[in-house]
Parts: sequence; C-alpha cells; structure tokens
Amino acid sequence: MRGLVKFVPVEYEYKQKFEHIFQFFSNGLLLIDEDGIVLEMNAQMEEILQINKNEVIGSHAVKIMDLFVNSYESNKEFIAKLMRFGEAELCTEILTFLGDLKYIYMKVSKQEDTNIYLVEIHDESEKIQMKKRLNHTESLSTIGQLAASIAHEIRNPMTSLKGFTQLLHQTTNEDGKRYLAVINEEIKRMEEILTEFLEVSKPTNNKFVSFDIKELILEVANFMAPQALMKNIELIISLTPESKFKFLGDRNLIKQVFMNSIKNAIEAMPKGGNIFITISNIGMKNVCIEIKDQGQGIEADKIDKIFDPFFTTKSEGTGLGLSHSIQVIKSHGGTIEVVSEIEVGTSFKFILPLQKEI
Ligand code: ADP
Ligand code: MG
Repeated sequence: MRGLVKFVPVEYEYKQKFEHIFQFFSNGLLLIDEDGIVLEMNAQMEEILQINKNEVIGSHAVKIMDLFVNSYESNKEFIAKLMRFGEAELCTEILTFLGDLKYIYMKVSKQEDTNIYLVEIHDESEKIQMKKRLNHTESLSTIGQLAASIAHEIRNPMTSLKGFTQLLHQTTNEDGKRYLAVINEEIKRMEEILTEFLEVSKPTNNKFVSFDIKELILEVANFMAPQALMKNIELIISLTPESKFKFLGDRNLIKQVFMNSIKNAIEAMPKGGNIFITISNIGMKNVCIEIKDQGQGIEADKIDKIFDPFFTTKSEGTGLGLSHSIQVIKSHGGTIEVVSEIEVGTSFKFILPLQKEI
C-alpha cells in the first residue's frame, strides 16, 4: 500500500503520543481540575486503586482522598501546602476500592500556566513489606539465641537416655534390640543437630587475626574435595596466584562459612557436576569469593528465607548454616549476594573488606 500516505495533523499526533506516555507511565497518574474534579487517569492508577477509571472520572477527588488511612489533620496540612506552593507530597497507607491495604507515595503538582493538577502515585507496598520481612529475620535471630540455651538443657537428659538404652540392650530380647537400635539412631541424629546448633549459636569472642583468605579457601577446598569427589563433583578453583588477600578476622568462623557453602553446593548436586570457586579483587579494598554450583537452584519464593534460622529444604538439614554465615560475614563488615536459577545452579558471592595496608 505504498504511496497511500495518510497525513495526520501534527497537533493530533502529539496528543496521541502524549496520551500513550500518560497511559503507560510506570507510576499512577491522575489529572484534576481546579475544582477538584478528576479529568483523567492512567492504567497504572487503575491498578493501584483497584477501580475502573470510568467510575472516578467526573467525580470529586475526595472520593480518592477518602481511601487514605491518614489523619484528617495531615490531609488538611497536605492540601494547605499544595495551595501555597503549588506542589506537595505525602506517604500514606491507603485502603483501595477493593479493600486491600497499600503503602503509597503521592506527589501532586499544579501544571504551569494551567489550572490542572497532576497527581502521581507510586506503589511502595513491596518495599515496605521487604523491610518488615527483614525486621522479622532479625527477631528470628533472637529466637535462635533462646533456642540455643534450650538446646544446652536438652543435652543432659539425652546423655542419660543414651546410657539407659545401653543398659536395656544387655537385658532385652531380639525384638527389643531392634527397637533400641532405632532409638539409638534417632538419639544420634538429635545429638548431631544439637552439636551443629550449639556450634553456630555459640557466642563468639572474636579472635581476630591477620591471614590470607586465598590460603584459607585452598585449605577448605582441600578438605572438602574428597567428599565432593565421592558425589562425582569436582572443585575448580580460579585465582590470580600473585594476588594477596590479606584479611583481618576470626579465621575459624570464616572457615565455617566456606565449609558450609561448599557443603550446600555439594548437597544441591545429587547428579554431580562442578563447583567453581573464584577469588577476585573488587577494587583495592574488597575481595569477592564466589562459590558457584551447577545444582538444582533455589526457588524464587525461597530465596529470601534461606538466611532465616531453621529454614531448610532438606530432610536432614538444620537450616542453621546460612543464618550463621550471614551473621559472621556481617560482623566482619561484609555482605553475601545470591543469584540462583532453577536446574542451572546457584552462586553465592561473599564480599569482604581486605585489611588496610599500614
Ligand atoms: P541446611 O543446609 O541445613 O538446609 P543452610 O542454612 O545451610 O541449612 O541452607 C538453608 C537452605 O538454603 C537449604 O536447605 C537449601 O534449601 C538452600 N540452599 C543453600 N545453599 C544452596 C545451594 N547452593 N543450592 C541450592 N539451595 C541452597
Ligand atoms: Mg547447610
């Protein structure tokens, strides 16, 4: 159909372009006239407020202000500021038209040379929820400490249970012996859980020493390699041999972090594969140790739980390794980054500050 050119008035084209931007803008947008009547709103605003725009356009903006879970006073203050400066912003909780609670940031500004106000709303709910979740994690670690003292108390009765099963073993018949074997297995398992638990929740009187992170990683890798090999897994280490990674910290604690990380990687690869361990500089001041596996990966909805104490997806797991690791890394001024893809693998990056050269 070449040659059939349709001429569109420029103004009309602009209006269409503007409308397109308005409709598909990533934040909620709303236009109000000087009397407070809603003139237009975009799709994102419909989604945030959970209403069809036809039910709002032509109504007074009070219909929207009524959604605010806010004091009358602060709304009044907001409007006064808007009148005075032609611009005002507000963070508030709203109950949408469907009754969902959302946390929003709102900015209203009078458009130059017109009597039209533009309302921009950004849905901050997810950010706020994330913050709440983080606080939850912190309180979980307090629970973790409480549980540690309970674990101590459980140890003693367990020792006596073990003593009595041994005595019973000498006097019981074959059936009884079989049952006792099961009981002993279970006690052994409880002991293992307790030992690991007490190990990680033990108060640390940080014994900071200066050491080379590279040597520590090689030591851990050498220690874990036979275990890995038995599961058909190879540890592949890459580093710049001449680089030095002098670090000041508790060597034992840092060692546990990497042992657990490699152990997790091995456990994620029941079919075997490679674990890539990379040590590299980030600028002059930080070192990054990456442990990357070719394992099953972590599901998206689990990834922010893996650092919670007791979170585990393994039947034999304690869920304490990573919660301990994050504590240790944080107390050394570092961070952990996780990237994971289902059936492809997981990468844990431990970023730690290097010792300052004196
Ligand atoms: P545990 O190993 O006892 O389960 P951790 O705190 O070490 O406890 O790990 C918590 C959970 O995080 C694991 O149960 C697992 O679901 C997940 N996870 C940790 N590392 C990996 C990994 N490399 N690949 C897949 N999932 C992992
Ligand atoms: Mg673990």
